[in-house]
Amino acid sequence: MYSALRAAAAAALFALPLAAQQDDPALIAKAKAIHAKAIKIDTHVDIDPSTMTDVKPNYVTGHAHQVDLPKMRNSGVDAVFFSIFVGQAQDFSDSGYAKARAGDVAKFEAVHYLAEKLAPDQIEIAYTAADVRRIRAKGKLVALMGVENGYGIGTDITNVKKFYDYGARYLSLAHNGHNQLSDSNTGESDNVWKWHGVSPLGKQVVAEANKYGIMLDISHPSKESNMWVMANSKAPVIASHSGVRALCKTASRDLDDEQLLALKKNGGVMQAVAFAGFVKCDPPSAERTAALNALSTEYGIPAAQAGRVGGGGGGRGAAIPSGVCGIGYDVNAAPRGGGGGGGGGGGAGRGGRGNPLADMDPAKRAEFQAKLDALNVKYPVPARANVKDFVNHIDYAVKLIGVDHVGISSDFDGGGGIDGYNCTSEAINVTIELVRRGYTEEQIIKMWGGNVLRVMEEVEKAAKKAQGVKSTRDALPETGTFSIIAYDTATAEWGGAVQSRVFSVGNGVLSAEAGVGVVATQAVVDVSYGPQALALLRQGKSAAEVVKYVWEHDPDPDTARWAKTGRQFAVVDGKGNVAAYTGPTAPTAAGDKQGAHVTAQGNTLADKSVPDSMVAAFNRASGHLAFRLLAGIEAGQAAGGDKRGKQSAAMIIVKKCGGVWLHNDVVLKLQVDDSPEPIVELRRLVEKAPLPPRGVTNAQNDPACR
Ligand SMILES: [Zn+2]
Repeated sequence: MYSALRAAAAAALFALPLAAQQDDPALIAKAKAIHAKAIKIDTHVDIDPSTMTDVKPNYVTGHAHQVDLPKMRNSGVDAVFFSIFVGQAQDFSDSGYAKARAGDVAKFEAVHYLAEKLAPDQIEIAYTAADVRRIRAKGKLVALMGVENGYGIGTDITNVKKFYDYGARYLSLAHNGHNQLSDSNTGESDNVWKWHGVSPLGKQVVAEANKYGIMLDISHPSKESNMWVMANSKAPVIASHSGVRALCKTASRDLDDEQLLALKKNGGVMQAVAFAGFVKCDPPSAERTAALNALSTEYGIPAAQAGRVGGGGGGRGAAIPSGVCGIGYDVNAAPRGGGGGGGGGGGAGRGGRGNPLADMDPAKRAEFQAKLDALNVKYPVPARANVKDFVNHIDYAVKLIGVDHVGISSDFDGGGGIDGYNCTSEAINVTIELVRRGYTEEQIIKMWGGNVLRVMEEVEKAAKKAQGVKSTRDALPETGTFSIIAYDTATAEWGGAVQSRVFSVGNGVLSAEAGVGVVATQAVVDVSYGPQALALLRQGKSAAEVVKYVWEHDPDPDTARWAKTGRQFAVVDGKGNVAAYTGPTAPTAAGDKQGAHVTAQGNTLADKSVPDSMVAAFNRASGHLAFRLLAGIEAGQAAGGDKRGKQSAAMIIVKKCGGVWLHNDVVLKLQVDDSPEPIVELRRLVEKAPLPPRGVTNAQNDPACR
């Protein structure tokens, strides 16, 4: 009797809303401090591309979804892996694959549009673990991408690299339903398998993902598939959104102990998912089921339907409470109006077309509803999972495989959500519960993002190792000349680097003068462009003016074979402004890309995106300008490669009074000719060079140098 009373009291306590239990201000303060310090990464959030367009409300204004930029800022997570998800259709033809791939591309492009056009001041795409840390340190939110379902890869494994180039940093071979790459966990329902694990093509895809640095995601494939991937991946894997099977036995998507132990051995991480249906799957009581069946029979309604009417809540479309999860945007002012969306509305109980309940006579329906209400009071539905239930999964996994292999995810906007963590703004509730259970700051920081970043780094390292293998070069297309020129505002240095199959590019492509600027000339160019441009810069003309002037005054002496519409050149002026010209008749796949104080250009490229990756790599790199230029040129090579006979590379860096040994303006002038690996050789030389420490500007110390 006594113990029964105590149990009842305990149950009552746990039934209190979370807020009511937060009575320990010291604990809350500690949780808040840890929460602020941790890099919080949610490894799985679904997206609707239409919410990443100019049409408001959208991801930037805030909307009726579980994740958006205002909610992330409002103490939500710092970084989100947006799910590049396509559903599994049973069409394994080329057109079926193409359709799926188009769905992937639409989502990739939506994320790029959000980060690069809609809100570049607020959110930035991370391509590496270091990017995540760098972007977060700037106070910006971080966008990452993960492919959920490899269906869109089709039968062409080169699509893996294409997805990587879009920014994909994880990939799950399958979703719900077997596909050309792998079996799915859903095979458990009928025990019918297509491959008994990973298909032969899927094994090649695993190798490709390892080669480029994409984490394999085991959240949806079958157990056999997952066990193979964990044993054979050259790098650790993640489960981007999975629970513990032992605590939710009917969820075939959750990981059983054998898989968790294999994950530990593999060095990977399980990102516990705050998805009510995968956190807690207590079946309704036998009494409730019997009562529902009786009611169904009485009113001629299928039992499952009556159950849904009575069940409410849970899963996709569960109502998002107001408060922190509400819409931060004035929907009345929105052109799209009326707070639509809402993740599917959860309207399972509403009568629809062909629904026996809808067809029922209103008086009879009211009678049915009254009986159902009474039944729900007498035999309540099992409560929806809450934060405590969720952290039970974390506890279980930590006890079994250790805190280094456990993290946190939500599956928001894809069905995720539990009581207390229904949108990203409620992330603090998870931290509070972790603190309450005695986890330390270090452990919580690992679980909120540290572990995933570690796995990302290990995957990046394994990819670098794999790419070092010579034979991968054979797959690379031919390329021509590409260069990058830039100004370093911190040191007042101008510089450039170039790589080409053309012998001795160091003599011609780059021209630089301290205090004046730097010019790159290539493709169908008149060799006088470099000196001409420097002369104009000396007169104080801007980069844009110089580009315009030089091109307009080109006499175009050989329009048939050497037309000026094919020229390519770029200028960085004395203030660090950049401008470039790539003519419409420049050699194949020519392009240029500008960033702040940097421009990259090239022609006869494997892909027009080569200059984009050069600028991105330059921006990611740190240290002396020489190393940032190297990073740019190396990225150009990685994005395109060159097998027509790489020959030469060069680098020049100038600065007023910048000479290391002599009092002159040349910090570095390196030229590599006739080399099978000119960029590798260039790096070796740069690493040996006595570079001035970054930030020490002789020019500032010595008036004669200004
Ligand atoms: Zn999923």
